[in-house]
Amino acid sequence: MSTQETDAGRAAHGAVNCEQALGKLFEFLDSELPEADGDRIREHLAYCEPCLAEYDVEEHVRALVRRSCTECAPVELHVRIRESLTVLRAQIT
Ligand SMILES: [Zn+2]
Repeated sequence: MSTQETDAGRAAHGAVNCEQALGKLFEFLDSELPEADGDRIREHLAYCEPCLAEYDVEEHVRALVRRSCTECAPVELHVRIRESLTVLRAQIT
């Protein structure tokens, strides 16, 4: 009975699901989202491990791209970072 109330409460707070969070991830990283939307994404990343991992990868790629001043990260680089992060996580656990 309280399930409906919880869902309504979440909707009222504007909580996003994984699909929405990842869909807006690039805009979020580029600071193109309105503050309210950005907060929702941040909120989701705070408790959603898979999305946070995705965010980590994108941020790493962007940081490297910024440093090397290239237009966009080569797919190869993206894959390499993803692999190294996976290895890193595997070592921790
Ligand atoms: Zn998620």
